[in-house]
Amino acid sequence: MPSRFPLPPGSMIGVIGGGQLGRMLALAAGRLGFDVTILEPEPDSPASRVAAHTLVARYEDPEALQALAACDVITFEFENVPAAVVERLETLGALAAPGRLPLATAQDRVSEKEFFREQGIATADFAAIAGAADIASALPRLGQRALLKTRREGYDGKGQTWVEGIADAQAAFARIGGKPAILEAAVPFVREMSVIAARGRSGEIACYPLGENRHEAGVLRTTLAPARVSDATREQAIAIATRTLEALDYVGVMGVELFELEGGDLLVNEFAPRVHNSGHWTQDGCEVDQFEQHIRAVAGWPLGKTNALAEVEMTNLLGAEADDWRTLAADPSARVWLYGKREARAGRKMGHVNRLRPLEG
Ligand code: AMP
Repeated sequence: MPSRFPLPPGSMIGVIGGGQLGRMLALAAGRLGFDVTILEPEPDSPASRVAAHTLVARYEDPEALQALAACDVITFEFENVPAAVVERLETLGALAAPGRLPLATAQDRVSEKEFFREQGIATADFAAIAGAADIASALPRLGQRALLKTRREGYDGKGQTWVEGIADAQAAFARIGGKPAILEAAVPFVREMSVIAARGRSGEIACYPLGENRHEAGVLRTTLAPARVSDATREQAIAIATRTLEALDYVGVMGVELFELEGGDLLVNEFAPRVHNSGHWTQDGCEVDQFEQHIRAVAGWPLGKTNALAEVEMTNLLGAEADDWRTLAADPSARVWLYGKREARAGRKMGHVNRLRPLEG
């Protein structure tokens, strides 16, 4: 059977999820001549307003999945898609990229950490917590102060809490309803960084320069890229990303969140099997940004260049900050990206701004 790849322009790309990442994927796909179908339960979503078609339905909806399966390839803008949805799409003959393995691995913090451990990639020490007894045995080993996170469905610092001592940890575990959790040792990092990496259908890999990330209240606030790092640190990040992409037989763009320790060694925090907020700087700092790169990869096109053309500071616009669009529009140093969300709830990601400076030396 002749390969369906590379997909010709005019092909239909299915995207599960209709948020800002889906919107920017649809814009990038449109630039390359593709059409996009979004599957999203909410009407009037950010992605639906720039995509050719939208299926407004639950992710598990059988009719919607039947319609989505007609797309030439299907991808995701968020990782918490139920595994059953991907299985159903595959049964219907559809091709999903990234596939089931990366999604399943990233959806569960314990399987994710075990995966990294199997690959010889360093992470924080951790223990799976199924009951109060696990806390009593794990906490002394992890140090008295540790981070308790739900195994599933945590993002932007949600579903996690610092604990100090066994009684405190057990109370926190009760507060999350005794849901399966992970307890992580506190990492004494000096910086948080990330690497956005891509793997194409022929197995080629391309990594963008590292970004340095600052969070506020668990939410990404700024990314500065390229981060100033030593060659050794950069090489470590590339080796981590390469190993992860290859072990998962990954196709598409992935974001890998890293902790830098004193001295430059890296630990992995987690990976996101999708385009990533900390990669938005590439939209104005690189010839081919992470969104086009992802579309290229899933469509079986060659990957684009990943070198930086400028130094970029990306700042997220949260909640009412995007109401200040007049000031941003009048600021010649600001490249403004707005997501078209109707409601500016506190802390909600409404847009971002990239500010460029010439690359140093
Ligand atoms: P996460 O939801 O795992 O991405 O964690 C959100 C944020 O919590 C990270 O960006 C870090 O700032 C912090 N964090 C997560 N895990 C650890 C850890 N093991 N030690 C110290 N800080 C952490």
